[in-house]
Amino acid sequence: MRPEALNFLACPSCGHTLSLSRQGNCDDAGHIVSGELACVACRGNFPIRDGLPILLPGSTETVKTETASRFAEEWLRWSDLRDYYKEEFFAWIAPLEPSDFAGKLVFEGGCGKGRHTAIAASCGARAVVAIDLGDSAFVAYRHTRDLPNVHVAIGDLLRPPVKPVFDLAFSVGVLHHLPDPAAGFLSLASRVRPGGQVSFWVYGQEGNEWITRYVNPLRVNFTSKLPAGFLRVLCWPPSLLLWGVIKLFYRPRANRKGPAFLPYGDYFASMYSYPFDEIHANVFDQLVTPVAYYLRGDEVRAWVASGFDDAAVRSHRGYSWSGLARVK
Ligand SMILES: [Zn+2]
Repeated sequence: MRPEALNFLACPSCGHTLSLSRQGNCDDAGHIVSGELACVACRGNFPIRDGLPILLPGSTETVKTETASRFAEEWLRWSDLRDYYKEEFFAWIAPLEPSDFAGKLVFEGGCGKGRHTAIAASCGARAVVAIDLGDSAFVAYRHTRDLPNVHVAIGDLLRPPVKPVFDLAFSVGVLHHLPDPAAGFLSLASRVRPGGQVSFWVYGQEGNEWITRYVNPLRVNFTSKLPAGFLRVLCWPPSLLLWGVIKLFYRPRANRKGPAFLPYGDYFASMYSYPFDEIHANVFDQLVTPVAYYLRGDEVRAWVASGFDDAAVRSHRGYSWSGLARVK
């Protein structure tokens, strides 16, 4: 972490300011690699390890959820950033555009390996503060350590260790993996200043009935309990099948939409040019996590029904929900 991060970080226990109580060595990019932060109010101590502040109440890693740890296994393995991530990101968070990040203070709830963190930073954000509960935050740090406007921390979105000062907060593909997605959304929005915006993308129940009916029981009772390496091998046959089906039947039409008469038309068409390992990673993601909520449209709309202006929730490609709202 860089010292400037203290302008945005806060104690996860009481929300007050943190100060640097012990500084170990620094690296050539100006990051404090080891040391300790202390809360000026409750005197809680939080370590800095391998360049990352670990801002969890109690400062232990035992509070991490199994879900975050399971995803970290994936991201530590597939840790490269790819060109098509930017197009995918702005499809998820539309109508936000790159220009909406310019000059803004941005908070990302659940950054994984930092693919969206790096994109937000490249769009000219004044600062991007990204947290994740899993060790994937170390991968995000590795990807963004040379970007002067990025600050990564290990933290829990349900107790976000940041000040309520942000112009824009976003969370893509994360809220549905929390034990309480609605609480996660409110927590994300709580760190946005009045007049700022909050954006999210979550799995939908509508359009995914076969997953909730057939895949979920398999995931909860079997695949989420398997060793990650074994599950990775197990995912090869269905991934190959899916990849073949996409290549055969889902060539995008001229307007970049997929075949309307087939399921997941737009979604699978968007994956048409993806390499096989990306398809495999998507299948693995579906099967690895112990917690995944598929949310109804009315549930998600209720999140932004009060306390927000200009709230809009839209179906994204018929299988997920994207939301954008302005904090009152
Ligand atoms: Zn405190």
